[in-house]
Amino acid sequence: MKTALVCGAGGFIAGHLVERLKNEGYWVRGVDIKAHEYRVTAADEFMRLDLRRPEDCQQALTLGSGTFDEVYQLAADMGGMGFIHSAECEIMHNSILINVHMTHNAAEMGVPRYFYSSSVCVYPDMKPGDPEMTEAQAVPAHPDNEYGWEKLYSERMAQAYSRRYPMTVRIARFQNCYGPFGTWTGGREKAPAAVCRKVAEVAEGGTIPVWGDGTAVRSYTYVDDMVDGIYRLMHSDLEGPANIGNPEYVTVKELVDTVAEVSGKRFNVEWVKGPVGVQSRNFSNERIYSTGWRARFSTLEGIKRTYPWIEAQVKAARQK
Ligand code: NAD
Repeated sequence: MKTALVCGAGGFIAGHLVERLKNEGYWVRGVDIKAHEYRVTAADEFMRLDLRRPEDCQQALTLGSGTFDEVYQLAADMGGMGFIHSAECEIMHNSILINVHMTHNAAEMGVPRYFYSSSVCVYPDMKPGDPEMTEAQAVPAHPDNEYGWEKLYSERMAQAYSRRYPMTVRIARFQNCYGPFGTWTGGREKAPAAVCRKVAEVAEGGTIPVWGDGTAVRSYTYVDDMVDGIYRLMHSDLEGPANIGNPEYVTVKELVDTVAEVSGKRFNVEWVKGPVGVQSRNFSNERIYSTGWRARFSTLEGIKRTYPWIEAQVKAARQK
C-alpha cells in the first residue's frame, strides 16, 4: 500500500485531497496546526503539529523506521485578498518557515516524491484579454502581493532541493479554488465563499456589499478539479511548475449573478472599496492539459455544489 503525508490536512484543499488519496487506496497521515473545522478527516492518522518547527516536520515525516512514498505540502498561512493584504508579515514569516523546514527535512529524510502547492499569485497584474502567460513567464517576476513572492521563493527552493537530492518535485500553481468544506467566514474566506455567504445571509430584496466595481476578471476552479489536477501532476513526468485552473474567465459581477441564479434570491449589490487584487490574470493550462487533465465543473456547476453547503453553515450558525 502506498503511503502519503498530507500537510495542511486540517484545511480546505488538503482535506479534499486526503479523501481522494484514500479513494485511490493510500494509507494517509494528515498534519495540521489545527483540526479541520468542518469535517471529520478521512486520514488514517492525524497529527497536530506546527510545521514552522523543524522537529515537528521531522515527526510528521517519520513513518516507522523510514518515511513516506509521497508528501503533499499544502500547509500555509493563507486566506483571501482581505487577509493577503492585511497579513503580509504573517504570510511571509509563517509560510516561509513551513516551506524551508518541510522541503529540507523531506529531502534529508529521503522522501522520493514531493508536491508543493504554489499559486497563480506569482504572476503580475494583467489586463483582461492580454495574451496568456506560460509558467516560464513568471520570471522576471512582479507579483502583485507578498503572498506571491513567498510562493515563488518556495517553488525555487523546492526545485533546488530536487537538483541536490534524489527527490522528485512537482509544483502546481493553483488558480482560485472553491467548494464545500472551505473557509466561508472569519476574514480568510475567498471571493466565491464570501459571495455565497453574503447571499445566504441577505433578506429577499436586501443589499449585499461586494468589493470593487465587479469588472475584475477571475477564473474559479472547483475543488474536485483541483484535487484531480494535483493527483495527475504528482504522478506525471512534468518538471517545473504547472498552472491548474478552470479556463472559464468570469467577472466578479458574473460570479455574483451565478450565485444569485443558484440561490433563487433577488437582492441588490453595492460595489464598495476593498482589496480586490489584480484586474486579471490570463495564464496557459497547456502543461497540465498534457497530463489529460481538464476542468469538469463550470462556475455554475461548482456554485451549485458549493452554495447549499454555505447556506447550511449560515443557517446552523444562526441557530447557535
Ligand atoms: P487553508 O487555509 O484551508 O489550508 C491551509 C492549512 O495550513 C490550514 O488548515 C492551516 O491550519 C494549515 N497551517 C497553517 N500554518 C500551519 C503550521 N504552522 N503548521 C501546520 N499547518 C499549518 O488553505 P487552502 O485554500 O486549502 O490552501 C492550500 C494550499 O493551496 C496553500 O498552500 C495555498 O497557499 C494554496 N493555494 C490555494 C488557493 C485557493 O484558492 N484556495 C489558491 C492558490 C494557492
